[in-house]
Amino acid sequence: MSTERIRKIINNKDFTKENLSYLISLEGDERDYFLKQVGNTYTESLGKKVYFRGLVEFSNFCTKDCYYCGIRKSNTHSERYDIDNKAIVDAAIFAHENKYGSLVLQSGERSDKAFTVRITSLLKKIKEATNGELGITISLGEQSEETYRDWFEAGAHRYLLRIESSNQDLYYKIHPKDEKHNFETRIKCLKTLQKIGYQTGTGVMIGLPFQSYNDLADDLLFFKNTNIDMVGMGPFIEHTETPLYEHKDALWSLQRRFDVSLNMIATLRILMPDINMAAATALQAIDPMGREKALRYGANVIMPNITPTANRKDYTLYENKPCTDEGADDCANCLSIRVEMAGREIGYNEWGDSKHFFKRQEKK
Ligand code: SF4
Repeated sequence: MSTERIRKIINNKDFTKENLSYLISLEGDERDYFLKQVGNTYTESLGKKVYFRGLVEFSNFCTKDCYYCGIRKSNTHSERYDIDNKAIVDAAIFAHENKYGSLVLQSGERSDKAFTVRITSLLKKIKEATNGELGITISLGEQSEETYRDWFEAGAHRYLLRIESSNQDLYYKIHPKDEKHNFETRIKCLKTLQKIGYQTGTGVMIGLPFQSYNDLADDLLFFKNTNIDMVGMGPFIEHTETPLYEHKDALWSLQRRFDVSLNMIATLRILMPDINMAAATALQAIDPMGREKALRYGANVIMPNITPTANRKDYTLYENKPCTDEGADDCANCLSIRVEMAGREIGYNEWGDSKHFFKRQEKK
């Protein structure tokens, strides 16, 4: 086994595209060595804390048609649901009482007035019901600057908008090429979110058909160059009722997608040591210990699902999603054990904001 190159890249912070691509593609003993190095360095420099974000996937109605997604508009087999505001506020109160610190609100993408006004009022209600103590992340897609501002003023302070792939050609292989799925618009939205003052997050899928290690290295450089504060990324898992499924024979094995996802997490941790990074649920869909492994090698955020259980099975962006039949209590207990197993501590009642965000503000 030769570890010389890995050692040099880490010590000299020599993060060229070629070197990043090399780290992302590592296998066998070299990979084990690399992951261990990152795990040790990370907990030494950033501490052991892991932050909880209670996740509420409150609606799977969506106006978009992304080729990989099980709840895309054109999938007529998807059972649609929309949880009422009272149940969402109750879930927020549950998160607050259980000392989660933060909440994530996520849904399919809608930008009609009824929806945007509803979210503004919902955010205010959540803030009120939790004495302003619960941090709120939202992940509600592309919106106008005015809407983003309204939501920010109503109490949301973090926004997650995944780019899915920073390679424009690949982006249009996994999205229709039309006005509703425009790559430039997505980039513009990320910039607008940063301008308004959100802690801004993005992410990609790993192991897409047509994707190379160089594409993934470019994704990491995109996060760095865009000065992103938070990242959520995980393995691509195909869904039978989507157009992208026809390319299933071009996919890496599930195990390879999982391994490369951990390599991506570890590589990003050394490239951007102060950002927040989520241990994606999709990792656990492949390996029962997937999220613990992500926590060992660089992730510091975990998102217990607190969506009312009856609706969880219908928020299926991909298939075989784990934890769709557990109650919120079971989910929290299971996760706290998982965090301990990974040798980490839970930052109860803490917002756990991205350190990178505050540094970015200082430099303004
Ligand atoms: S990925 Fe998001 S925007 Fe695209 S179809 Fe699925 S829910 Fe809608």
